[in-house]
Amino acid sequence: MGLDFYKKAIELQNKYKGTKIIENAIQTNGTLLNDKWCEFIKEHNILVGISIDGPKKLHDAYRKNKRNEGTFDEVLRGIDLLKKHKIKFNTLTCINKANYRHGFEVYKFLKNIGSTYMQFSEIIETTPENRDFDAVAVEYNKKQFALEPQDYAIFFKDIFRHWVKYDIGHIVVRQFETFISLVLGHGHLSCVFEDKCCNNFVLEANGDIYECDQAVYEKYKIGNIHTSDITKLEAAKINKVKTTLSSDCLECRYLSLCHGGCPKHRINLNNGVAQTYFCEGYKELFKIMVPYLNAMVSLAQSRIPYVKVKEIADKIASL
Ligand code: SF4
Ligand code: SF4
Repeated sequence: MGLDFYKKAIELQNKYKGTKIIENAIQTNGTLLNDKWCEFIKEHNILVGISIDGPKKLHDAYRKNKRNEGTFDEVLRGIDLLKKHKIKFNTLTCINKANYRHGFEVYKFLKNIGSTYMQFSEIIETTPENRDFDAVAVEYNKKQFALEPQDYAIFFKDIFRHWVKYDIGHIVVRQFETFISLVLGHGHLSCVFEDKCCNNFVLEANGDIYECDQAVYEKYKIGNIHTSDITKLEAAKINKVKTTLSSDCLECRYLSLCHGGCPKHRINLNNGVAQTYFCEGYKELFKIMVPYLNAMVSLAQSRIPYVKVKEIADKIASL
């Protein structure tokens, strides 16, 4: 779909929005950006998310074009164009087998290219694919780029220790901010760790609607834009999976932070109930984060900005 499609979409939004405020966001690797695109993005204040997995050698490990060549140089060219047009962007980075040991290097790189809002997505893909979140395969093979459960914590722990001491309040790392927001009583910022799946519907080109972009499978198709009353649609099936927790989860000290993670990642059976593959990695990261989170709560209760935690970060680390 070219630029004309999006111009038409904005035209229709303006025609039908009434008093509503519509915010648009686009996720792209940026390789096809040009001046025309940038002028359009700037004019309509569209939020741009750039998919990039770290410096060249790490990004190019899996992000390849049709000729099987790494796309890093083209992605950087797209980012330079955004900067030329003074368009703000955030970044989305997949944590995979190539970059999980280089978390801090990836973080420093993202900062250097000007990302101040970072999202990270932990990768597990299997054969057979997990399509039936409530009826997972007993046996599966992991794809070559998939993480081991602990790799999640290996990637994040050095980033967190640095971030909480130097960058909190300046750089947004969504994974960290979501836990801070929760303990300060403002709710989660990420559905993965929320207690329910929100209505993050996906609309396909043929009009089909699915409960979530992680669940574009027949089982989770809930209607079609041409025939369904979208005000009555709900992510009910996936929510049922989300709220069905293993006995380990129900007894876990981190349940209020984790809520069992995303149903898509629940590929391990625990006494017959699907549990997230990343459980061990989550626990390791929570163990590091919780003393800082507790300190932030204490600061907030004393009406001191929670970002002041950076001033006591060394003390907390030595406990
Ligand atoms: S399935 Fe996963 S990504 Fe989708 S809403 Fe639920 S937690 Fe979020
Ligand atoms: S850390 Fe593991 S056991 Fe605890 S709530 Fe999360 S998935 Fe469940």
